Formats: sequence, structure tokens, C-alpha cells
Amino acid sequence: MEGKGKGEGVAFKVTSVARGALKTIVGQGRLPWPDVYESEFWRTAKYDGCHKLLRQTKGDHEISSSIAKRFVDETSRILSGVKDTVTSFIDQAGSHWEEMDGTVLVVREKIAPDSPITRDIDSLIDHHMALKGKAKETEQILEEQRKIIDELHDRLRSDSLTGIGNRTALEADLLQELTRAKRYRLPLSLAMVDLDDFKKVNDSYGHLVGDQVLKRLGQMMSKDVRNVDKVYRFGGEEFVIVMPHTPLDQGRLVAERVRRKAERKTFLMPDDGIRFKVTVSVGVSQLEPGDELEDLIARADQAMYQAKASGRNRVCVINGIPAGDSSGD
Ligand code: GH3
Ligand code: MG
Ligand code: MG
Repeated sequence: MEGKGKGEGVAFKVTSVARGALKTIVGQGRLPWPDVYESEFWRTAKYDGCHKLLRQTKGDHEISSSIAKRFVDETSRILSGVKDTVTSFIDQAGSHWEEMDGTVLVVREKIAPDSPITRDIDSLIDHHMALKGKAKETEQILEEQRKIIDELHDRLRSDSLTGIGNRTALEADLLQELTRAKRYRLPLSLAMVDLDDFKKVNDSYGHLVGDQVLKRLGQMMSKDVRNVDKVYRFGGEEFVIVMPHTPLDQGRLVAERVRRKAERKTFLMPDDGIRFKVTVSVGVSQLEPGDELEDLIARADQAMYQAKASGRNRVCVINGIPAGDSSGD
């Protein structure tokens, strides 16, 4: 049918704008998978989730996940732009369509059923309905794709065991905080939290109980820190707290509070009635001039090892100020 053909033409045009935008990005070498930006990408994203997308990239998991995150960020940005364009097209066209609906119906009523132009009018109505339908459908597809991308984005940023931010999220957020802190000359502190003798917890109660400890501790820290602070799982039994607008002495207080809270908590495993306690060692660093993300993390790590070396269950700080400790003993 001629009308439908034209309606599809509009949908195709919109889709080709989206494809064109993605193609440009692929052409600039900013995306890793030139082959998957078309239907394969959506199929993979929708049914297999980010894990398959990650497997499609080469290299180790961390690199893959940051590449995947960049890909997802870019796609999300493009889709939002295309969807806005389609929505505004529909809004603007809406009043013309209504006007045309009225006019066409009036004309149709006025002409005799056997008039030679009846078929043309019917075809016009067909075309008109198809156009409206396709525009709406395209808008819905784009909205659905945007949701898939948002979900992928969240999954790429969250740690599957604890539900808090993972290392990919940490690196992205920390880079932002670091840039802001440098630009506005604001303080920024970072704490590296490592569970003490965690291997013993696994050895005594099993890995599943160990997993529960990590989950509860991660969630507890996440709830207990100030609104401005964020907790991430750095890997294994290590967590990182990013503290924007926070100089070292305040960062140390936050870390000390977290340490004490962990120390006081009793873990009770209801299924087997096991009760036990854990402690954490924390290293805190603050942003120094010329620091990159890795420097801030490396110094917090170094301070954390000092805390381990000086007896565990304590907070050590590093940077400008000589390292010191606050024992929980
Ligand atoms: P230290 O006080 O020196 O940090 O001792 P530790 O035993 O905590 O440190 P070590 O580096 O020797 O061992 C870390 C342990 O953390 C061993 C590993 O099995 C456990 N671990 C790491 N990730 C996970 C996880 O996802 N689940 C569980 N259950 N255990 C984990
Ligand atoms: Mg460790
Ligand atoms: Mg440990």
C-alpha cells in the first residue's frame, strides 16, 4: 500500500539517523565493535545482557568493562538525542495531523462514494494513519532501547554480590571528583577498607557465609557514610570510600567511624546459628597537587598496609602528614 510505504519511510528515516550517528562514532574509532551496533547489538543487550557484551570485547575484564561502559554511555547519549528529536517531531506534527484529519473527513463526506477521487482520499487517509502510527511506534522503540541501555549502564556499574558500586563505577566517579576537586581547589579524601583475616572467615564458615559478610558489610558502610560519600567494592574483600570536599583529618574520622561500626557488628547466620565478628583495617589518603587517580588509590593502599602491619583493626593516614594510627585495641 502506498500510504504504509510512506509511513515506513518516516520510521526508516528516523532509524537511519540513529544508525548514522552510531556509524560516525564507530568511524571515529571510538567504539570497539563496528559489527554490533545494528540489530545484533539490541538482541545481545536485551537477551544476554552486559555479560555477553563484555565477552565480545577482547582483553581482561576490567578493560572490557570500562570499554563497555563507554560504549553504553555513548549509545545512551545518542538514543536520548534521537528520541528527543522524534518526540518533538510528533509534538510539532500533532496539530497539523489533527487539522488534516478534520479536513480529509469533511472532504470525504462531501464527495459522492462513486467519485473517482474517493480512492485517492482513502489512500491519503491510509497514508496519514500509517505515518502517525509509525512515528509513535518509533518513539516507543527508542524509549524501550533507552531503558535497555539504562539497565545495562546500571549493571555495568554495580557489584553483583553487594549491590554497591563496583570498580568501574569507582573509577568513573573518582575521575569526576578528582577533576572537580582540582578545578575548584577542593579537598578530596579516599579510604581503602580491607577485612582482617578474612581468609579465616571463609576457612571456618565457608565461602557462602563469607559472601554474606561482604554483602552486609558493604551495605552497612554504604548506609552509614555521609550523603556526600560513596562506597564501592574495589575487589575481593576490599572496599573504597570516596569522600569529596573532605580533608584528610575529616576523612580519618569517617574511616574511624566505619572501623568502629564494623567492629561492633555481630554477624549472625540464622540458618546455622553461627555468630562471629570481623574487623577492618583502613588506609586514608587525600588529594595532593599533581595526583592522578592511581596515586590517590596507591597511597590509601599503602596506608592500609601500614594499618595491617601495626596490628590490624585500625586506621592509618598517609600524605603530607606523617603516617599515624588510631588503634581499636
Ligand atoms: P589480611 O588481614 O592480611 O587482609 O588477611 P586476609 O585473610 O583478609 O587477606 P588475604 O589477602 O590473605 O585473603 C583474602 C581473602 O578474601 C581470601 C579470599 O578467599 C577472600 N575473598 C576475596 N573475595 C571474596 C569473595 O568474593 N567471597 C568470599 N567469600 N571471600 C572472598
Ligand atoms: Mg585484601
Ligand atoms: Mg584482608
